[in-house]
This record gives sequence, C-alpha cells and structure tokens, in this order.
Amino acid sequence: MMRLPDFELRRPRTLAEAATILAGEGPAARPLAGGTDLLPNMKRRQQTPRVLVALGEIPGLRTFTNGAALAIGAGTTLAALAADTRMAQYGALAQAAARVASPQLRNQATLGGNLCLDTRCSYYDQSEPWRRAIGCCLKKDGDTCWVATASRRCVAVSSSDCAPALVALGARVRLVSREGTREVALEDFYRDDGMDHLVKRPDEILSAVDVPDAQGWRSTYWKLRRRGAIDFPVLGVAAAVKRDTAGTIEAARVALGAAGSRPFLVPQASEALIGRTLDDATIAATARRVAARAKPVDNTDFETRWRKDVATQLVSYALRELRGEDLGAIRRRF
Ligand SMILES: Cc1cc2nc3c(=O)[nH]c(=O)nc-3n(C[C@H](O)[C@H](O)[C@H](O)COP(=O)(O)OP(=O)(O)OC[C@H]3O[C@@H](n4cnc5c(N)ncnc54)[C@H](O)[C@@H]3O)c2cc1C
Repeated sequence: MMRLPDFELRRPRTLAEAATILAGEGPAARPLAGGTDLLPNMKRRQQTPRVLVALGEIPGLRTFTNGAALAIGAGTTLAALAADTRMAQYGALAQAAARVASPQLRNQATLGGNLCLDTRCSYYDQSEPWRRAIGCCLKKDGDTCWVATASRRCVAVSSSDCAPALVALGARVRLVSREGTREVALEDFYRDDGMDHLVKRPDEILSAVDVPDAQGWRSTYWKLRRRGAIDFPVLGVAAAVKRDTAGTIEAARVALGAAGSRPFLVPQASEALIGRTLDDATIAATARRVAARAKPVDNTDFETRWRKDVATQLVSYALRELRGEDLGAIRRRF
C-alpha cells in the first residue's frame, strides 16, 4: 500500500485567507480541491507539498450563475456540472465533465482541479521505486526525457477533458492572489511544456470559469480512451459552431486535448468551416486539417500513428453530430 507523505493541512474559510496562506508558504504549499489527482500523485511522491490548502470550505467557490454568460465556481464538482440543466446550451462541457474518470471520482473531483490537472506520462505516473529504477525523468528528479531522449523539453501530456471543451467554448479563468484578481483566456492558461504547463503562479487560486453566452452555438466533445468506464483521454476533440438560419457557419472553434502538453485551438479548422455548411466535403476537409495538427507522442496509451488516424474520425463524428445526425450508436463505443 502506498502511503501519503507527512503534510500540514490548512482549512481557510475565505478566498482571501487561502490566498494569504499560499503567499506566505510559497511553492511548498498547494491548493487541495477534490484531491483525486493531487493525493495519488503525493502517494507516488511525484508531488510533495509540505502544506495543503483545502479549498472545500470556501463557499464562494461553489457558486454557479447564468445570466447572459455562465460563471462556474472552481469548486463545482464534475458530477454537479454534468447534471445541471443550465448546461444544456454548453454541450461540449457537459459531455466532457460526464466522461471524466468514474461516477465516484466525479462526485469528488472539481472543475478547478480538472483545469489544473498535472500533465501525465507513462514514465512519470509510476511509483517512486519504479521511477528511481530508471534514474527518474526530466519532469521529476532526473535529467532525461525517456520518451524523446534528445529533448530538453518535457513532453508529458495534458489529460484534462474539460480543458479542450472550455477552450472551444471560449472560456476565461479568474485567478485570485493576495495581489488581486486577474483574468486569462483559457487557451492562454496553458504552456507547451509538460513540466511547467500552467501560467498560474503557485500563489494563485483559480476561483471561477467564465463561459461566454452560447446563444446560437452548438458544441460537442468526443473522447478516445481504452475503457469507457474510467480512463483518462488519449485524445479529446471539442467542437463548437454557430450557424445562421440557412446553415452557413458564422463562427467555429475546434480544440484538441491529450494531443500535446497543452490543450489547443486549431485555427485551420475555423478557416475550413467559416462561410460553409456542414456538408460531407467540408467535414472531411476539416477533419484532415485538424488531424494534421495532432502530433501524439509515445507516452500514453495506444499506438501513436493510430491515435492520429482516430483524430480524423473523431472530428468528423463531432461535426456530423453538430449538423444534427444521431451518432448515439457510435458514441457508445467510446
Ligand atoms: C483513476 C482516475 C481516472 C481519472 N480519469 C480522468 C479522466 O478521464 N479525465 C480527466 O480529465 N481527469 C481524470 N482524472 C484526474 C482527476 O480525477 C480529475 O482531473 C479531477 O477533475 C481533478 O480535480 P480535483 O478537484 O480532484 O483536483 P485536485 O486533485 O484537488 O487538484 C489537482 C491539481 O489542481 C490544483 N488545484 C485544484 N483546485 C485548484 C484551484 N481552484 N486553484 C488552483 N489550483 C487548484 C491542485 O493544487 C493540484 O495541483 C482521473 C483520476 C483518477 C485517479
């Protein structure tokens, strides 16, 4: 059995109190939300914070408001998010949240934790003795990236389901510290660096996610994983389109997850879609353009070439669904 290392648990009641603790303790402290990522990582000694700042007793982090736009508190659980009827207009996010891990984990896991999820790699997500046996890796305690041995950059992969969905929806995040609040577009929240993948400073708390009004938009999320009941994504495709009454696409955003160290928008997809209808030729051309941007490396599940091929398929499923086809039978296979 793997045991947690010693740590001090702090339980602030307000965001300001939490920000003060994080500022005072420095990088040795970390926010703790549902703990479904951080605590297993601590058991494997991948992350060893001395102080955990539990966010669960801060009521403001669980607020959920929808006016013209949607403001989701970072402490909202993924189960609550997936079940909320106000999410009907934000299909990609509801589907992504509903496909994270398993029901038990979604009851505990939060949106904030999902967006700040550590990057993953088959040479990193191992017990401490396993990692030490190969001399550790670039991301933790070593100096070699075992996936790309010549690389000076860690290629651990972003594995959040909600991140690409929210990037496609044009979301922004609010970051709170003792110095105040700043807002960042979610697509700029991530760096293409498996070790240092967030622009968030250690003293900042992600307090809320703002999603623009989705009036006139339809969005969806498709996920590749080995077991439909629990696994992390090895590819995530989120697509959102806005069409006029004739079906011509006025705006479109397609984002990929688990295809690099950060989730990212594919501008070539917007170029291929805007001004056209969702006919078969447009869908095929868009799928090819998106798949060309997916460059999976050999550090998660499945063969990389095949994962790239599946990107073509998932994009076309997503766009066919957005034009109104019922793909329920295909969806059940994922
Ligand atoms: C078996 C298993 C399967 C999983 N499958 C999936 C999957 O399919 N898809 C997926 O996306 N994830 C998956 N996960 C990972 C994890 O369960 C989810 O990503 C979850 O949403 C993490 O949220 P949490 O609240 O538990 O985060 P925590 O574990 O509490 O925190 C995760 C990280 O975020 C930081 N953090 C948390 N909240 C904040 C905040 N408000 N502000 C600043 N920093 C914060 C923490 O310091 C920590 O670094 C899986 C985990 C397990 C164990």
